Amino acid sequence: MIELGAPALGDAEKQALIAVLDDRWLTMGARVRAFEHAFAELHGVVDAVAVGSATAALQLILAAFDIGAGDDVLVPSMSFVATAAAVVHSGATPVFVDIEASDRPHMSLDEARRLITPRTRAIMVMHYGGFAVDLPAWRRFADEHGLLLFEDAAHVAGLVGATGTGTDAAAFSFFTNKNMTTAEGGMVVVADEARRERVRLLRSHGMTTSTLDRDRGRAVGYDVVECGYNFRMDELRAALGLVQIERLPTWNRTRVELLARYRELLEERLPEVCVPFAPHHPTSGHIMPIMLPERCDRAAIMASMRAAEVQTSVHYPAIHQFTYYRHRFGDVRLPHTEAFSRRELTLPLHPALSSADVERVVEALATAAR
Ligand SMILES: *Cc1c(COP(=O)(O)O)cnc(C)c1O
Repeated sequence: MIELGAPALGDAEKQALIAVLDDRWLTMGARVRAFEHAFAELHGVVDAVAVGSATAALQLILAAFDIGAGDDVLVPSMSFVATAAAVVHSGATPVFVDIEASDRPHMSLDEARRLITPRTRAIMVMHYGGFAVDLPAWRRFADEHGLLLFEDAAHVAGLVGATGTGTDAAAFSFFTNKNMTTAEGGMVVVADEARRERVRLLRSHGMTTSTLDRDRGRAVGYDVVECGYNFRMDELRAALGLVQIERLPTWNRTRVELLARYRELLEERLPEVCVPFAPHHPTSGHIMPIMLPERCDRAAIMASMRAAEVQTSVHYPAIHQFTYYRHRFGDVRLPHTEAFSRRELTLPLHPALSSADVERVVEALATAAR
């Protein structure tokens, strides 16, 4: 079976986990701090805050910037549901914005401009599939309208220079199927130091000292200065993260090469299939999305490819069309998002794939399409 995605895990990860067990300090400690520094260094930012997931990261960002009841946050519907759910949990209203075109699945700036009201407080962009959003354009737009600019950066760990800078905050994911993994895990990057320290405080119940500090005698007792959460990362996950982040740049390069190979082969063998974004668009190579021709039966193609031992998936069913969101936010119509959502198919992409695997996938797709 050619898997859709697969975490790269080896002996270094095993040894790192064993070392944590041997040290007998399992909760947030020195490894979490070291992982934060390593992540910040890779992305060229001052500091970062490790958390339990990107979903927790999104919630912490909204909380730290006081987004809540009465506020609107512009979000793409072409994303994973967590992008919108975090806004709902904050008490604010997610306002779904269509994508640029049926084959350009980034949130549309022109559509966003149309949806701004006096209630709009923030924009949450998402780097679909790892393809970098035009952050300078969004920054200008956000500044014109006095809005905060956040990134759902779940797909772009390691995409240096294209994410995490120039925005107010970004949420990265280390879930199992992302470009690097800690099994579950996330990272928050916040430009403003005071807001960043507020994220750190809210991550652990709004407590002024940590368990480690008290254990080591560096602090006695604690105060609670905010109503926070338990969104901490633990030492086992940070140990995995420290190993994985070393290899992330190489993995991302491999992903981008495989993506280019897919483009070449698809153009040759299946010119009726469209690959979103221009060939040299900056990307972390998170996934390999294609758009099937309008008349294709996607379910049948997926079944045929599964029979040929090739896993596929869909990124994403549009959030505004899920039952909960339809009931809660009414009849939203986003024609480009809906068209893309109907026709998108995600092909296998991960660093352990070979060029021969890519050829087999395209072959299986060509057979399925016939
Ligand atoms: C994976 C993902 C998330 C959630 O990440 P977790 O770490 O699993 O909470 C959020 N947004 C997008 C776009 C994702 O792909």
